[in-house]
Amino acid sequence: MSITFTINDNKNFIDNNCPELIHREVYSCQCVDFSENGEVHPTCSLCDGIGSVAYEEYPFEVNIANANARTLINALGLTFDYCGEIDPRTILKAVKRTPAALIEREGYESHNEGEPHMIAFGIHEDQAQSYLDRLAYIAQEAEKREERIYWS
Ligand SMILES: [Zn+2]
Repeated sequence: MSITFTINDNKNFIDNNCPELIHREVYSCQCVDFSENGEVHPTCSLCDGIGSVAYEEYPFEVNIANANARTLINALGLTFDYCGEIDPRTILKAVKRTPAALIEREGYESHNEGEPHMIAFGIHEDQAQSYLDRLAYIAQEAEKREERIYWS
């Protein structure tokens, strides 16, 4: 599970103003990949029999795993919830005063007998800095558009 941070009405704005910023990737469909003869399954529910699936990645959106998003929001001194909205200036101020080291988390692995095997990957400092940079980038754009930032 992950949380997406973006600008209010971002998809519409990009579609209408700068569709060239949308990153499109086209993959061959699983129905082709897993067929014995490499043929498209005519009633495939993923590709509708086309044989390929397209993904679009919009600018000014960032996806962060739930646990990392919680760590990030808490480190920024904001109140965590799984969805919310915020003024971009609040994000910009929070990013400015928050060092990446505050978001850093050690990874760990535990396999005590009788307990589930746990692996946490932690948050590396470069990853933490990239979260801050991407949030600031989104917030600056939101401020220009006079829109709020949403996450869900
Ligand atoms: Zn298919």
